Amino acid sequence: MDKKAKVLILGANFSGLTMARYMHRLAKDAIELTVIDCKNYLNFIPNIPIEVFNNHNPADTMEFPFHHHLKKDGTAFIQAMVTRIDADNKIVYYTPNERDGASEEKITYDYVVIALGCRLAYDKIEGFAEYGHTFSDTFQGNKIRNYLHNEYKGGPAVIGSDTFHQGSSPKTPKVPQAIAACEGPTVEVAFSLAEWKQKHGFGGTDGITLFTPGEVMVEDAGETILAELLPMLKNMGYGYKNNTQGIKRLTREGIEFNDGSQLEAELKIVIPDWVPHDILQNQPFTDDKGFVITDWYMRNPDYPELFCIGDAAAVTVPKLGALGHQELTVASKVLANEILGKNEEVEPVSPMLLCYGDMGGSKGFYMHTNEWWGGDKHTLKTGHTPYLMKISFKEMYRLTGGDVPAWGMGLSEVIGEHTFF
Ligand SMILES: Cc1cc2nc3c(=O)[nH]c(=O)nc-3n(C[C@H](O)[C@H](O)[C@H](O)COP(=O)(O)OP(=O)(O)OC[C@H]3O[C@@H](n4cnc5c(N)ncnc54)[C@H](O)[C@@H]3O)c2cc1C
Repeated sequence: MDKKAKVLILGANFSGLTMARYMHRLAKDAIELTVIDCKNYLNFIPNIPIEVFNNHNPADTMEFPFHHHLKKDGTAFIQAMVTRIDADNKIVYYTPNERDGASEEKITYDYVVIALGCRLAYDKIEGFAEYGHTFSDTFQGNKIRNYLHNEYKGGPAVIGSDTFHQGSSPKTPKVPQAIAACEGPTVEVAFSLAEWKQKHGFGGTDGITLFTPGEVMVEDAGETILAELLPMLKNMGYGYKNNTQGIKRLTREGIEFNDGSQLEAELKIVIPDWVPHDILQNQPFTDDKGFVITDWYMRNPDYPELFCIGDAAAVTVPKLGALGHQELTVASKVLANEILGKNEEVEPVSPMLLCYGDMGGSKGFYMHTNEWWGGDKHTLKTGHTPYLMKISFKEMYRLTGGDVPAWGMGLSEVIGEHTFF
């Protein structure tokens, strides 16, 4: 291409921000890059629970402004709500949201990358605002921090997920069927809550019940890890309830499930359904629910100039930032090669669950597996090292503005595999 290719990235949290930084690194002089997001900071969601249990307001510590990083790259940033994507005419419509009353504007593109994540549908859970708690943004984090530190009396606690409604399309590559969108945080929070309760004289795992809509919790951890993890949770004293078929409602007294059962609980921590945004519903490039259809290079088969990465993509199950990172690494290479006219071969995404979880008390777990997708990798380690890696990754992400070096991921894997304390 003689003139610069106009690349538009929609969304600038984990997937969109890192995609923008990688595109600049790989194709800087050949592209005119614009990023649109309705907020001008990154929400570092995975570390919100650690801040909450340490009695910090996550709004003070987990919102990372990114504008200066994009400016340094020469990337344009527009703070606006994306309102419409017209893939046939390669136009995106948006409404600036700094002040109420702005009129809708539009921008054309040669390539668009959708990284808009999903709606977390708490509004579909009756009683959530009055009786529910969660950790998925800084508002919710601060709400549960205030509750735990000022109101909680030490009564029974339930932690678990609502049912996930995965989409389908004959054009989506085969991916496993998930009954919950993202159950890793459930286990992580269960560990840290028990440690927090112990420290505050409320009795550790006593009275904490984990629940899942499915046959088995964190199914995506694969059979080998589950054979170790589930007995471990039982031996530690957690209650466990499966096959709830989803959450019916939360009440002052507890939680009611769609299978007709209920649990008494003072503290109700829930992870909701992950639902595609309204603007992605009924689009010619999305599946029957509104998840964006891509191949494993993250490109839409009918609109080759349209890519999608992260939670908004149909192939991203479970909804995990780590999967989004694998996807954007592939998508950025594919897109940069195409724009630069290079013929370098790029391997498609081969999904792998790689995660560091907090367990409280400066301990954590490291999980690395692809068994759920038919592979044979399965590592589960616990100790102080995974906790340090979780904190270090957050710092690396903050300092580099999402421009995580390739060696950073490799190094964290090597250290995780060799956890010895
Ligand atoms: C409590 C919790 C803990 C987690 N822990 C982990 C973990 O340890 N490891 C892990 O890998 N994953 C974890 N996850 C999952 C992880 O947070 C998500 O997978 C990740 O945030 C997805 O990134 P994304 O960029 O695709 O979407 P998002 O992070 O949802 O970002 C979407 C972006 O798009 C913007 N946006 C949305 N709609 C519009 C619009 N119409 N106009 C303009 N902008 C818009 C939003 O403002 C946002 O910046 C956790 C999730 C939760 C809830």
